[in-house]
Amino acid sequence: SFHKSKGQHILKNPLLVDSIVQKSGIKSTDVILEIGPGTGNLTKKLLECGKMVIAVELDPRMVLELQRRFQDTPYSSRLKVIQGDVLKTELPYFDICVANIPYQISSPLTFKLLNHQPAFRCAIIMFQREFAMRLVAQPGDKLYCRLTVNTQLLARVSHLLKVGKNNFRPPPKVDSSVVRIEPRKPRIEVKQKEWDGFLRICFNRKNKTLGSIFRQKSVLSLLEKNYKTLCSLNILQEGSAGNDDSAFDYSNEDQSMEVDEDGDDEEMDMEDGDAEEGEASEFKGKVMGVLKEGDFEEKRSSKLTLQEFLYLLSLFNKAGIHFS
Ligand code: SAM
Repeated sequence: SFHKSKGQHILKNPLLVDSIVQKSGIKSTDVILEIGPGTGNLTKKLLECGKMVIAVELDPRMVLELQRRFQDTPYSSRLKVIQGDVLKTELPYFDICVANIPYQISSPLTFKLLNHQPAFRCAIIMFQREFAMRLVAQPGDKLYCRLTVNTQLLARVSHLLKVGKNNFRPPPKVDSSVVRIEPRKPRIEVKQKEWDGFLRICFNRKNKTLGSIFRQKSVLSLLEKNYKTLCSLNILQEGSAGNDDSAFDYSNEDQSMEVDEDGDDEEMDMEDGDAEEGEASEFKGKVMGVLKEGDFEEKRSSKLTLQEFLYLLSLFNKAGIHFS
């Protein structure tokens, strides 16, 4: 019996497994990381192609089944099974990751992999179709969102394969897609908290103009507070770096896949629209000045490229305006 809560949907179509492995471009020298090997259908093909497979599996019953399947075969010495939650496991070195994962861990897993050092060559991962389409979205696409920009900051992502529900047993509720993720080398360096704070504000209302987003009282008062703190500390050039796990929490906006983003925006407007201006502060002028400088006032996050986001953040920072 399979555990729905563990996202146990076994790949039952051997042609599809072959196709995934073939598209992965595995070399005979590769150390392969597999996440959620389950009963080992994919694992077997990976063992045929690579030097070594390290498989992380949460369910002890699956671990046993997997070990039973490969014991007394020539593969057993090249398979290492780690029992545990991949999100809590310290990952070993690997060249390539190939996995049919439980969909509930999609975003934390993606960022765990992308922050793993040394960077791997590529990851070939099965995701829920909509999540996959968010990863590969381009500016202007309906699914372009904070998750997209955060992923594309760290990696180049491409869509490899559409996979229907009936390739799995039991079939999941949603369609799937296989995606290829290739970490950027060299990395684009950003201050993690700064970048995260900035993108959260930009995508809070992604279809609004940046002008109207940055005129919101709540946004201005947050930024002004940061500004004053930094001024009084007299460290205008220094933000805080370091890892911030909250950057990978998309529970608010991006992963609530059913949300109608336009409808959402309307609601926000009523609470906190442009009408309610308050005293036109000097600080507001400073913020608007930055937007004007880069010609961003009339632009919308839903259409900005990664490069434009990086540029806008750099303009804010140059003006001493910080998001963390
Ligand atoms: N790879 C197999 C296949 O394609 O047939 C099974 C894929 S199934 C979608 C996901 C697998 O991940 C299950 O075996 C499940 O027990 C395991 N799993 C679920 N949560 C996990 C976690 N947090 N860490 C590691 N494995 C997990």
